[in-house]
Amino acid sequence: SQSIRIAIAGYGNLGRGVEAAIAKNSDMLLTGIYTRRPPSQLKPRQEASPVYSMEALNGDVDKIDVLILCGGSKEDLPKQGPELAALFNTVDSFDTHARIPEYFAAVDGPARANRKTALISAGWDPGMFSINRVYGEALLPDGATYTFWGKGLSQGHSDAIRRIPGVAGGVQYTVPAQEALDRVRDGSRPILTTRQKHTRDCFVVLEADANPEAVKRAIVTMPHYFDEYDTTVAFITEEELRREHNAMPHGGVVIRSGNTTAENAQVVEYSLKLSSNPEFTSSILVAYARAVHRMQQAGQYGAKTVFDVAPGLLSAKSPEQLRAEDL
Ligand code: NAP
Repeated sequence: SQSIRIAIAGYGNLGRGVEAAIAKNSDMLLTGIYTRRPPSQLKPRQEASPVYSMEALNGDVDKIDVLILCGGSKEDLPKQGPELAALFNTVDSFDTHARIPEYFAAVDGPARANRKTALISAGWDPGMFSINRVYGEALLPDGATYTFWGKGLSQGHSDAIRRIPGVAGGVQYTVPAQEALDRVRDGSRPILTTRQKHTRDCFVVLEADANPEAVKRAIVTMPHYFDEYDTTVAFITEEELRREHNAMPHGGVVIRSGNTTAENAQVVEYSLKLSSNPEFTSSILVAYARAVHRMQQAGQYGAKTVFDVAPGLLSAKSPEQLRAEDL
């Protein structure tokens, strides 16, 4: 059978991850990387990966089976998602949870009108965690769902620290509270506050004339980001920041704790420990690209989410092979 022809729109962390993930899937072919920057400025992971200008996409509709959108959720996808779903089958990782219904509608119209399939909000959260929340709720209706994130680097919280006057650089790690995890895992279904579930650890590089106490206060009292959490702030050097904090680890758990009868508690857990958040996210996007290609060929047009995709469609194996080997 022929390879699935995949292209990448936007070459940041996810774009690089998708390039790596395609190389791990022998039924897929990377046809090109498309960027808004001058293509000559990009250094792809593999020298053989062709780089084109985003404008060239219009002329390449017949060369691409699925376009993986690797732009940012805040500024890029709200515009790129609906535009590109009119021309291509797409997969993206839109992760602004509160805006997903609105984004779904914006992508669904153009995709449906042009008989394309557009899978939105894939990744691990939203994505694999969402699926596990749904499994938990459906299988154990008398229960409670818990999501813990980390230990991991939070891009949004790191950006918030870096905007504080006197801060030259910094990162923030979200850390699940061990005591809360233990209580959830024992099946007792505790009610947990925001403060009880996670702590936030900040590593900050100060500018030369900055006041450490003022910076610390500005961080721990910042509304929405830190004020509801126990937050630690450690001051480090520029060199330490570069050496110790340049990776993008993440992970977390989804736990459903429920009772099938009054006597019997059941606890189900899905857990991730990721040394690279973007590379794992990209691996998920690539598996969903395979599903999207199959769904479009089967006439299932419009916007879709991970809830609409049967697990077998993600696999490179045939349904017969899956029944024989994995069931
Ligand atoms: P990123 O590295 O900032 O890349 C976003 C876009 O910025 C790229 O597509 C690229 O577009 C442009 N860009 C990248 N590097 C650049 C540079 N050096 N100079 C100028 N422009 C540059 O973002 P990311 O880490 O790949 O993440 C993308 C999105 O993935 C995030 O916004 C997040 O919402 C989502 N995400 C979702 C999940 C999930 O579980 N669902 C997990 C992780 C991330 P051009 O090539 O067109 O310039």
